[in-house]
Amino acid sequence: MNRNQQLFERAQRSIPGGVNSPVRAFKSVGGTPRFIDRAQGPYMWDADGKQYIDYIQSWGPMILGHGDADVVAAVQQAATRGFSFGAPTEGEVELAELICELLPSMEQVRLVSSGTEATMSAIRLARGFTGRSLLIKFEGCYHGHSDSLLVKAGSGLLTFGQTSSAGVPEEIARHTLVLPFNDLPALEAVFAEKGAEIAAVIIEPFAGNMNLIAPGEAYHRRLRELCTASGAVLIFDEVMTGFRVGLTGVQGRYGITPDLTTLGKVIGGGMPVGAFGGRRDIMAHIAPLGGVYQAGTLSGNPLAVTAGLVTLNKIRQPGFYETLSQRAARLAAGLQDAAREAGVVFSAQSMGSMFGLYFTAEVPQNFAEVTRSDIARFNAFFHAMLDEGVYLAPSAYEAGFVSIVHDDAVIDATLAAARRAFARI
Ligand code: PMP
Repeated sequence: MNRNQQLFERAQRSIPGGVNSPVRAFKSVGGTPRFIDRAQGPYMWDADGKQYIDYIQSWGPMILGHGDADVVAAVQQAATRGFSFGAPTEGEVELAELICELLPSMEQVRLVSSGTEATMSAIRLARGFTGRSLLIKFEGCYHGHSDSLLVKAGSGLLTFGQTSSAGVPEEIARHTLVLPFNDLPALEAVFAEKGAEIAAVIIEPFAGNMNLIAPGEAYHRRLRELCTASGAVLIFDEVMTGFRVGLTGVQGRYGITPDLTTLGKVIGGGMPVGAFGGRRDIMAHIAPLGGVYQAGTLSGNPLAVTAGLVTLNKIRQPGFYETLSQRAARLAAGLQDAAREAGVVFSAQSMGSMFGLYFTAEVPQNFAEVTRSDIARFNAFFHAMLDEGVYLAPSAYEAGFVSIVHDDAVIDATLAAARRAFARI
């Protein structure tokens, strides 16, 4: 038994399933999860000392690669001044100002410690602001694990084939209406019937939790119009896409102004930070200004905020996203070529530094199309790549990520591994 296997056995005695977040367990792909010992740049090393090129990037945050020297130095320095005070600090003001500057739809922002907290709080705020209860979400979108949002969700729920969670009372779930993603007629119909009851629409503007599905601009423009006309709060959940598809998220790419935006992942540079924010008149309803309560012992944590600030200041430098996007595009195109050479039915796309790999003939445009992927083939490819030292997300329903340190040599090594892997499956 190798060390990963020993650790997994041991972990399962004290931790349910041996993991602290379900997809980590490799349940759908089979095999033993790798216990990560350390990471640097584009690489991670497991407990047996095997090296991997990392395309999970901690599920998105590590846009500078692991162990960026500037982030590490700043966090070390911050640690000497104190870990947490439960009182405001200058750093959190700086991070809030920077977020509002980069995403102008966010006139004010509140920092939290996870994406889940951000979306949960944004929904409470939207309900408090509108005095309405009904929430619209889309099939296959994942917005964290708060009760209202665990209805027909993506990510681990979709991976494990149980898309709604046990433990969410029917009385709560019935206030969440689930629509097919990227389907304008369905959207029009629900607004025509229930527009005046809708508190909020929450959407991953590019879905990254059912693999990667990117609706066009027209869809989002119409969604914006419908929300404006009915008084529903439009929430762009850019926890994943924010600072990933580009410096200004999907909202900047399409020129859409959501009422509220939720963020996470990159804004903490790998430490626990989330955020929600938007229109000043809506944000004025949050305590202590207004009656919608929201709080956190570790919110705006000084070490986490420091990691986020240094990260955002590096990624806003000119040329950063051009380089990053070219790398992801090269990876997606190269994988598609490798699959074609091997005669494997496969497609791929990238959006900024996010990419999607699909065992389908065409890039899927909706939930139904993505669930027609050849899962057995994905699982075989995943394990072949892992053997080759390339760490992809252990699910056919997750997006992948490149960092700025995935340079040409790293991408070339990945493509060479993929040619061998496609040949083997
Ligand atoms: N929203 C989106 C779009 C996400 O991708 C995620 C996490 N993958 C979340 C919310 C929840 O974030 P967290 O895991 O930090 O709670």
